[in-house]
Amino acid sequence: ASIWSHVPPAPEDAILGLTLAYEADSHPLKVNLGVGAYRDDDGAPVVLPSVREAERRLLQSRLGMEYLPVAGDARFRYNALRMALCSLDDDSAREAYGTFHESQLPPAATVQTLSGTGALRLAAEFLRRFAPRTDSAASTSTSPSVVCLPQPTWSNHPSVFRDAGLPTMSYRYYDGQRRTVDIDGMLHDLVYRAPPHSVVLLHACAHNPTGTDLNRQQWQRVLEVFAERRRDLLALFDMAYQGFATGDADRDAAAVRSFVRALSAGGEHGCAGRVLLAQSFSKNFGVYGHRVGALTLFTEDDAAAAAVESQLKLIARPMYSNPPLHGARLVNTVLEDAALTQQWRQDVRQMADRIRQMRAQLRQLLEASLPTQNHHPSTWSPITDQVGMFCYSGLQPEQVDRLRREFHVYLTRDGRISMAGVTRANVAYLAHALATVTD
Ligand code: PMP
Repeated sequence: ASIWSHVPPAPEDAILGLTLAYEADSHPLKVNLGVGAYRDDDGAPVVLPSVREAERRLLQSRLGMEYLPVAGDARFRYNALRMALCSLDDDSAREAYGTFHESQLPPAATVQTLSGTGALRLAAEFLRRFAPRTDSAASTSTSPSVVCLPQPTWSNHPSVFRDAGLPTMSYRYYDGQRRTVDIDGMLHDLVYRAPPHSVVLLHACAHNPTGTDLNRQQWQRVLEVFAERRRDLLALFDMAYQGFATGDADRDAAAVRSFVRALSAGGEHGCAGRVLLAQSFSKNFGVYGHRVGALTLFTEDDAAAAAVESQLKLIARPMYSNPPLHGARLVNTVLEDAALTQQWRQDVRQMADRIRQMRAQLRQLLEASLPTQNHHPSTWSPITDQVGMFCYSGLQPEQVDRLRREFHVYLTRDGRISMAGVTRANVAYLAHALATVTD
């Protein structure tokens, strides 16, 4: 036997495995609804015009390729925080979305990360070392803080925290019967079931996989649970789709801004240090492979921010040493130029609009096929009610299997449809396939 013969083959990642199966399929009408990456109306990957232009400018300026510092590019770190908290237009969104003025940014430690996943992993490593410990009823000792994840959530979330040695639990989020947020269940779980000092992961917008976000009033109720400090909960925002939910990056950041405003140093509730933010630029800049992200911890003052930053660097250095250069430069180039920023806002709106149009068409085609079905019209309303890249269709695993077998339509078995894979050319075929397997 060889040294490694005892190593069992690992199961394939559910989402990445789907793409492999799709690629191996030679059927001409095959459709990939698994991938969480934007596609244009021809089903092709997209480089945003604003990012293309930024790349052109970067090439011309013949920059070097030295290492970045461990914490990443200083300008990028500032731009990431500014994009999360400040309006990218002049004043337009300031009042409505809790927007910060650049001169009033709260104390915070921001480091550049290996995209959103890297930000979450870095947060997890930091939390394991420094977060207040959860009193364990079962023993005299304390255990690392529990991370509470919405049910359901992005399939990689449990693994990220598990691999960092943090226990996880679920809180109720989506009511599959009523196809809405189970706000009462969620609040109940946060108030009564989450152990003290738990870290609550919140999708900032465009919840993956359900496409179902809290509305303004619901966010306010959740914020009150944190503000009352009943359990001294920490909020960890995962913002992977800023701009994708509504087409407006300011509007999509409203929940994050309201939490930071209420819970930061000088905020009305004065419990600073309770908000963490993981940002991904993969989708909204379309720079998936460049791994562009940031992690921010909001702190009570600048001294705490400096200490937190130094510890984040201490974690990053032995793990990956420093983050990649090019993607951060692309984002800087866009966000530091007013015209390119405007172009980018338009690019994001265009992606969000195309997805919205496909939602409307898909629903319309499905409802047009109703006479042959036993369905109530409301069956298909979530397609247009939901936001962001995904539609949580409510399809059963057997129906998903049938779609794949009979129609060469690929999606995850939880019924999540990536709307980015729907085009004017395949939407009718897709509607026919969906109508058939649900009939
Ligand atoms: N969080 C959520 C909810 C996501 O859907 C994704 C991407 N699928 C990520 C984080 C991280 O993506 P990336 O590492 O490419 O930024």
